[in-house]
Amino acid sequence: MRVIVTGGAGFIGSAVVRYLVLEKGYEVLTIDKLTYAGTLTSLDSISNQANHRFLQADICDRSAIQEAFDTFRPDRVMHLAAESHVDRSITGAADFVQTNVIGTFTMLEAARAYWNTQEADAKDAFRFLHVSTDEVYGSLGDDGLFTETTPYDPSSPYSASKASSDHLAKAWQRTYGLPIVVSNCSNNYGPYHFPEKLIPLIILNAMHGKKLPVYGSGANIRDWLYVEDHARALDLIAERGQVGETYNVGGRNERRNIDVVHRVCELMDTLRPQGAPHAKLIEHVTDRPGHDARYAIDATRLETELGWKALENFDTGIEKTVRWYLENEWWWKPLRDGYDGGRLGLLQTQT
Ligand code: NAD
Repeated sequence: MRVIVTGGAGFIGSAVVRYLVLEKGYEVLTIDKLTYAGTLTSLDSISNQANHRFLQADICDRSAIQEAFDTFRPDRVMHLAAESHVDRSITGAADFVQTNVIGTFTMLEAARAYWNTQEADAKDAFRFLHVSTDEVYGSLGDDGLFTETTPYDPSSPYSASKASSDHLAKAWQRTYGLPIVVSNCSNNYGPYHFPEKLIPLIILNAMHGKKLPVYGSGANIRDWLYVEDHARALDLIAERGQVGETYNVGGRNERRNIDVVHRVCELMDTLRPQGAPHAKLIEHVTDRPGHDARYAIDATRLETELGWKALENFDTGIEKTVRWYLENEWWWKPLRDGYDGGRLGLLQTQT
């Protein structure tokens, strides 16, 4: 099995690449531009593996991507490369439209050109998995879950750009017959998560005795999934998902943001005690514009059709994550020192 993974130097992509290379023994070509969010240190553990290759390229660069298809000759594509941070999409949407929309269009066109040159059997077996988010569905009220048929209603430039890319993927399947499957997943957490995202931000700020910024009252609800459970789900969907269909991925772990922050503080109190409880560092900051109230995924289809089950519950997963950050300063310190958090509203509050 030969798999192209885009965005494989990012948070979820690197978990996917590590899983495919180490657990599945697949031949993997990682394609990544190495933006501020991508780092090869996330792939350190597979740097000596003969079944992994890396190409630094922009997914908007049609000739580089086409050459990658034509020389690597994949059986499967897992497309994760994206601009992914909602706050950045609010202050600078252009990169999101470029990478998430134009980049996905470029990937689809390169895949289609390559696929058209294949023999009938290889054409049937080929799969393009387009990886997306539950944020395309907008916000839920107190009840209900997102299903695969929930209408799209994105709120942020990030989710609007991902929604656009999902529509392109669906259209390339219906119009050109390219064997595409789409997945929409809830919030991920775990090791190798870039320091600007909520959970690592809270862990690292707590470690450094800095304020722990929480948007508004912190009542917004997210459905958390451990990243390695997502990686297994994506492999399963690429392997056995029905062409033209969508699979929602979620861990049935709904938590209010403020409760997540308190849980991290409790773990830090135990694992890295300081004078006062870490929760004293919590600071409520002006809410994000267009902040969705609640996301929650109904993963029944993935569970019943493909037999997937999340292995990690939030309590065990969050403890593993906090411990990982405490033990892996070599990974996060260069990223934390180097990133341009100052231009982001939320991050400004920590400095
Ligand atoms: P991330 O920001 O950690 O990683 C994105 C990767 O894509 C980085 O390595 C970056 O260098 C690369 N990249 C960005 N622009 C590129 C370009 N133009 N060409 C090539 N590479 C480029 O993101 P993530 O959290 O790992 O998310 C991966 C995918 O999963 C995204 O498509 C995202 O929408 C989706 N997703 C994320 C979550 C989540 O909770 N993080 C949940 C559901 C879906």
